[in-house]
Amino acid sequence: MFEKLLIANRGEIALRIQRACRELGIKTVVVHSQADTDAKYVKLADESVCIGPPPSRDSYLNVPAIISAAEVSDAEAIHPGYGFLSENADFAERVEKSGFVFIGPRPESIRLMGDKVSAKDTMKKAGVPVVPGSEGALPEDPKEILRAARAIGYPVIVKAAGGGGGRGMRVVHTEAALLNAVTMTRTEAQAAFNNAAVYLEKFLENPRHIEIQVLADEHKNAVYLGERDCSMQRRHQKVLEEAPAPGIARRVVDRIGARCAEACRKIGYRGAGTFEFLYENGEFYFIEMNTRVQVEHPVTELITGIDIVQEQIRIASGEKLRYRQRDIVVKGHAIECRINAEDPYRFTPSPGRITHWHPPGGPGIRVDSHAYTNYFVPPNYDSMIGKVLAYGDTRDQAIRRMRIALSEMAVEGIQTNLPLHRELLADSHFVAGGASIHYLEQKLALRKG
Ligand code: ADP
Repeated sequence: MFEKLLIANRGEIALRIQRACRELGIKTVVVHSQADTDAKYVKLADESVCIGPPPSRDSYLNVPAIISAAEVSDAEAIHPGYGFLSENADFAERVEKSGFVFIGPRPESIRLMGDKVSAKDTMKKAGVPVVPGSEGALPEDPKEILRAARAIGYPVIVKAAGGGGGRGMRVVHTEAALLNAVTMTRTEAQAAFNNAAVYLEKFLENPRHIEIQVLADEHKNAVYLGERDCSMQRRHQKVLEEAPAPGIARRVVDRIGARCAEACRKIGYRGAGTFEFLYENGEFYFIEMNTRVQVEHPVTELITGIDIVQEQIRIASGEKLRYRQRDIVVKGHAIECRINAEDPYRFTPSPGRITHWHPPGGPGIRVDSHAYTNYFVPPNYDSMIGKVLAYGDTRDQAIRRMRIALSEMAVEGIQTNLPLHRELLADSHFVAGGASIHYLEQKLALRKG
């Protein structure tokens, strides 16, 4: 096992990784920007290195600064967390070439899955069902683009091959709007992802977002840790997640889960990963794979009892998976609410000083957050300041516990989306379970009106 690990991230996930390292007896080095110097988790780390000014491009995305921090601190491995450099194949390659272990898949796997066109193609070949769409990236010829869309059938969605974070997508309902939408998405994709390639998919009208968590080691072992339902989204971004997915039979999940684990073995995947699917009328359609730990990983930890971050580290150190598929037992139900520093009605970011932070507690409650009273939320980064999780023997118990947790929780000095979560937990459609990816937007539209 490693003696010292560098955490190339910030906020709640930096703290989460630090906790995993502590339990494994690994010393931690946290790199941070000038905006995060005073954060408690930075002070709690065994060592910390300031790698630049607040803007991400000068600090958390500054590859040479991160590599030299690993060199001066004698860290053996680098954990990228999520976001920032976590799915950057060039970074993973630089880390390995510099003699450190990258906690994640091989750079080739990241590259293959980072391009959604090659990811879909790979999965199709590996026996995973994908959303019907264009054969690979769209050509330049307008006639061929029109033909491809006609073959799929409207509505279609234009998606950027290099897209992420819910950006680079455009729904098209009629042929008249197609070519303009393709051009606009291309331009945006070039600017945002430095990759103008776009492709078409059938736009599914009423799907749920169901994803499968996998763990795979270097020795061709792979398991799936059940599914998560992440259908509660705003602007294609997840707001609340739960596991298991309500109303989907175990054997249905097992069938798709087994295919995901098999695909991992086929492509020689290593580490933690997530297969994202849209689920409609009993069918799964692969949309993309995330080659890193996800924000919502704790719901899976709660229902399986497996520490995904520790497993990532063990796998990276070369250990064999400690679980076979039959050892993975799903028990109970877990819900996660992402707490964002934002206006709960207009969704504008609300950075600033937290004058009072009162997290919830009690049976079945887990809070993953780096925040505390007097913590200053910097304006430079993502607005998520933590996650509240509720676990119960049943979904009903998890919901009740989450309601209590949200009623106890108080954050003052900044605005948060707590009121939105309280509304959601009282929403009859959410409580019934199985809402589609469009439900939250529809609810919000009504609320505004
Ligand atoms: P990103 O990498 O930006 O997260 P994804 O491909 O994972 O993009 O899609 C994010 C979300 O966008 C999905 O969870 C879903 O809500 C919506 N979406 C993507 N593809 C489709 C599709 N073909 N039909 C309907 N909704 C889609």
